Amino acid sequence: MSRDAFDPLLERAHAHARAFLQDLPQRFVGARAGRDELIAALDSPLAAQGEDPAAVIDLLAGHAGRGASACASPRYFGFVIGGSLPVALAADWLVSTWDQNAGIHAISPITAAMEEVAARWLLELFDLPRGSGVGFVTGCQMAHFTCLAAARHGVLRRAEWDVEADGLAGAPRIHVVASEEAHITLDVALRYLGLGTRSLVRVEADDQGRMRAERLAEVLATLRGPTIVCAQAGNVNTGAFDPLPQIGELARAHGAWLHVDGAFGLWARASEDHRALADGIELADSWATDAHKWLNVPYDSGVAIVRHAQDHRDAMTSAAAYLIQTHGAERDAVDWVPEFSRRARGIPVYATLRALGRDGVADLVDRCCARARQFAALLSAEPGISILNEVVLNQVLVRFGDDDALTRQVIAGVQEDGTCWASGTTWHGLAAMRISVSNWATSEQDVVASAGAMVRVFKQSTR
Ligand SMILES: *Cc1c(COP(=O)(O)O)cnc(C)c1O
Repeated sequence: MSRDAFDPLLERAHAHARAFLQDLPQRFVGARAGRDELIAALDSPLAAQGEDPAAVIDLLAGHAGRGASACASPRYFGFVIGGSLPVALAADWLVSTWDQNAGIHAISPITAAMEEVAARWLLELFDLPRGSGVGFVTGCQMAHFTCLAAARHGVLRRAEWDVEADGLAGAPRIHVVASEEAHITLDVALRYLGLGTRSLVRVEADDQGRMRAERLAEVLATLRGPTIVCAQAGNVNTGAFDPLPQIGELARAHGAWLHVDGAFGLWARASEDHRALADGIELADSWATDAHKWLNVPYDSGVAIVRHAQDHRDAMTSAAAYLIQTHGAERDAVDWVPEFSRRARGIPVYATLRALGRDGVADLVDRCCARARQFAALLSAEPGISILNEVVLNQVLVRFGDDDALTRQVIAGVQEDGTCWASGTTWHGLAAMRISVSNWATSEQDVVASAGAMVRVFKQSTR
């Protein structure tokens, strides 16, 4: 195959990408096609003879309008989903083009250098200990896994047990303590690590979903031996932060490892106006966060940060005779992440931080929070609509007519309306719509149009 074969295909992909991006701000926000329609269109026996690659690219693009939800749309408020900043998407295209195996420095010095610098920038931005280990992983799920693997290593090392060599059979028991409001990915990480979920000690949370520090104190007083405490900066429903200064002090006094889920909340540290929410977070031993949420880089991108770099490295590193590993200052990603071969996912992070600067990241965070407050103000002004949470960050919980069935009906109606997209949850026994503003492109007008659609659907539902 000639090198020229790339040009027509990449030009085609570029044209399709431009059309998709042009359409994104005003298109129907949900996905319109379901499985049956898509399988009918896409399935065929695997042919012996392949097809024209250009036709294949056209086929993919032809189904994106109905088969993909516009989750990068400025009017997508489901889950906690970031958009893609233009610089981040462009950098990601280069990453695909360069096709680097970013596992070791010897294969990709450019990735190693950019990840080294991006790691330092993130520690400065979050104001976390500068010597921390940093790994660029797929998302907060794997950031939890990485951080908690380091925690498992660290607390057992202090108990004179080498978990990497001897495993968990016969090891001192590790106590894991987390809030009843901990994100489900924490449980999954504990499963992957052989710690299980049944023995997780749950600590009661308050009406905003914040761990009750006094309950944590009571729980810790009953535990002896290696202990990991998991706190949260940014509840997935309310955006609330656990009382980190108290939790940090309790964990230290107990000799426990403190891990913090800051999937989106850690980014509050970048903003003058919001950083006080995360005060005390610097007391932790490890932090998990996402770049594909609030930094608005394309999927998938998360970051694991560990104060004790040696524990981090000992838990992740791999060595084999055929590898060329560095013994100098060069960075081998395999030392910091679970993957061996991997995508150069730190490069879009580097590019985005470079393009935004400190002020740009702060502005991104502040704008999203301002839009969340705008949502809360517009919706709560409407009789029959109430906001269930204190809107401290970018998350808003909305209830319609103080009625579970009606609230669910409005959520379904809003999704069908297509002006915007939001999903539902149950908060302290009450059905609620979740609004998460996490996209750089969401404007005041987007919020006006989206809140307007919600109110319209609500009124139609009560008629
Ligand atoms: C999104 C989220 C996660 C999981 O992150 P992924 O990037 O989806 O793996 C964990 N914790 C919280 C609080 C989240 O919002």
